[in-house]
Amino acid sequence: MYAAVVVNTPLDRAFTYKIPPDLMESLECGNLVNVSFNNRRIVGCVVGLLKDFDGSDPDSLKSIDGIASESYRIDEELLNLSRFVADYYVCSSGEALSAMAVTGFRDVRLRTPVLYSPLLESEGEALTRRQQEVFQKLRQGGTAPATKSALAQLAGCSSGLIDKLIEKKVLVQTEREPVHTLRKPSGPHALEPNPEQSNALKAILETVDRKIFGAYLLHGVTGSGKTEVYLQAMASVLARGQTALCLVPEIALTPQTVERFERRFGEEIGVFHSQQSRTAKLALYHRIRSGEIRIVIGARSAVFAPLPDIGLIVVDEEHDGSYKQGETPRYHARDIAILRAQQAGIPVVLGSATPSLESYTNALEGKYTLLKLSARAANVGMPDVRVIDLAHDLIDRSGDVSLSEPLVAAIRKRLERKEQSLLFLNRRGFSNFLFCPSCKWVAKCEEDDIAMTVHRKSRRATGQPRDSGLDLFDAQDRPDEFGLKCHFCGRREPYPACCPSCQRTDLLTVGSGTQRIEEELASRFPDARLLRLDYDTTSGRDAWIRAWNQMASGEADIIIGTQMIAKGLHLEKVTLVGVILADVGLFLPDFRAEERTFSLLTQVAGRAGRTGAGDVYFQTWMPNHPAIRCATRHDYEAYYAEESRRRRQSGFPPFSRLTAITISDTDSEKAFQAARLLASLLRRLSNSSPEQLRINGPRLAPIARLGGRTRYRILLRGQRPRAAGNLVRKVLKDSDWSASASTRIAVDVDALDLL
Ligand code: ADP
Ligand code: ZN
Repeated sequence: MYAAVVVNTPLDRAFTYKIPPDLMESLECGNLVNVSFNNRRIVGCVVGLLKDFDGSDPDSLKSIDGIASESYRIDEELLNLSRFVADYYVCSSGEALSAMAVTGFRDVRLRTPVLYSPLLESEGEALTRRQQEVFQKLRQGGTAPATKSALAQLAGCSSGLIDKLIEKKVLVQTEREPVHTLRKPSGPHALEPNPEQSNALKAILETVDRKIFGAYLLHGVTGSGKTEVYLQAMASVLARGQTALCLVPEIALTPQTVERFERRFGEEIGVFHSQQSRTAKLALYHRIRSGEIRIVIGARSAVFAPLPDIGLIVVDEEHDGSYKQGETPRYHARDIAILRAQQAGIPVVLGSATPSLESYTNALEGKYTLLKLSARAANVGMPDVRVIDLAHDLIDRSGDVSLSEPLVAAIRKRLERKEQSLLFLNRRGFSNFLFCPSCKWVAKCEEDDIAMTVHRKSRRATGQPRDSGLDLFDAQDRPDEFGLKCHFCGRREPYPACCPSCQRTDLLTVGSGTQRIEEELASRFPDARLLRLDYDTTSGRDAWIRAWNQMASGEADIIIGTQMIAKGLHLEKVTLVGVILADVGLFLPDFRAEERTFSLLTQVAGRAGRTGAGDVYFQTWMPNHPAIRCATRHDYEAYYAEESRRRRQSGFPPFSRLTAITISDTDSEKAFQAARLLASLLRRLSNSSPEQLRINGPRLAPIARLGGRTRYRILLRGQRPRAAGNLVRKVLKDSDWSASASTRIAVDVDALDLL
């Protein structure tokens, strides 16, 4: 007996191994096994069992060394799906499967988690004040044993602090069975659906009952009750004895969203997120397989969650770019969700206030059923958006945008009323770039052809009042306090005393970032409690959850952040949303730049006045730009009409399928030669095939150098979904194609990121 095994390499084929006698009976497709491959011991997946070996010399074959993971096996549905993913996204089955498996291709063992609970007898006298606070908070939560990370989350503190409490013996290891940290269903149950919600629910549930595939696009303005529709549809699916999956963008996995699900479904929900350990994912896997978890909510990779008898898939914020994986396999979780629903014969619901052009077009063409929620559900209107035309308003001394007077006045009013303001600027750091006005030098990263961002070094604890009055200074006044940082590779450089090419000292920092706005706020409102949320202050899920708790509990008066704060937040006290510069991102060299801007602005504006009246201010240089004009009016249809006309004219998606190939090498010449050869082979083969493909390039990618590699780009556009992928695969397998070992080719089918 032989086994066909795939491993995580770009080679798209299975390798044959002998099955050792002790595994003859037990080995199954989907088992992860240890094998030696190119003299390395690695983990692969069994994809076939063969009686005979049709190669010449079966004795030369190696044996499988053993089963790598006793506690995990890839099921048949996932095996089938991996073949599709590999085929469609032009990668090997091994690459696809290792990304789809809960544990990856790794030897992961199920470990029993170590649990702790707070001591009841102890008053914790020997604790510092902060430790005391956390300890009391944990005790209020009861004495249910929980893991360290769960306790840290419960108390909203660092895991270091939990360690300290364990050291001081007020948290003790417990043997008791884990009581799930999730609460039993309580709180508000299903709300009485309004007519539009009923209509949507009826359509979805009919499809559930008929056990057929159906794709629904639930288009509803922010706060229109989409989530309520998901929850009720999922509850009905559960009542029919089936399971359900809900995908959300990573950033939306805040306690708030999760809590809302927990309140409805209690312990039946399981949450997948990207920062979970493989062990934690494996534990979830078992709870799903045992039927204990019947609803999975999670980010991109949760689309592969092994739910048996799945009855419904929901993709919330379906337009969100984070559903597309940025590395091999470059799958789109929304598209995989649709495929999975097709194969299972169940409905899939895509929800958004600003659907992607792709999905809305599919709905207009009848491929999806359009379900609309046209007004906010909880009897509140859409917020008023006021446009502040920067051409007539404030510019600070270095030509940078900052806070205009009307916005400052609006923030002041909120402070007086003890309400929260949310300020949005999609640019972190102090300034966007550093520029020499005389010789035009721009500080760039050595590795990447990218301007370095100016950062303020010592991060003042937020909320601390600083010197009052408007004594803002620029970086060149105190260069020691600043540094340069590359946002792609993280490289840091000191802030230069003068221009390295012409020695002038009056360098300009251009384009305010969140740090700078934070400084301005601190000096204008010295008593206000500020909270800055961007990847510099809030990296990692725990930090994000802590920050979220701070916002929700009203510990901050003014919140300033990047797109992190644009999504999924429902903060009752936020009555003002200010967009510092709506135009950021509008002119990035990517045909979707405007669509993203429109969508982001609409989402941000939707954060205001979730429960009552709210005001929104957009500061902009371009009040008449369609993306901005339509976002101020919450008018998706108008934007769609304009944007789709443009796309149709230029032949970009959704009116074609776009595949992007990036060819990169540390040696620019090699990259160029490889790209040119590849493009000519693609053209030649395309000309001899009936498929009409438009092939552009090679051209330097907009970010021409990244990670020390020069990048060339070839774009392929056609009408048929698989045409480009098939062509690329053929050419890459062709003997005329060759490239130096240092050259990398990345094929991105249905590419979203074109920078
Ligand atoms: P969305 O997901 O579209 O942003 P949500 O489902 O979060 O909208 O609903 C927004 C608010 O409206 C929530 O506070 C929710 O409780 C409330 N809501 C939703 N549906 C109803 C309903 N049928 N009746 C009353 N309130 C509702
Ligand atoms: Zn860099």
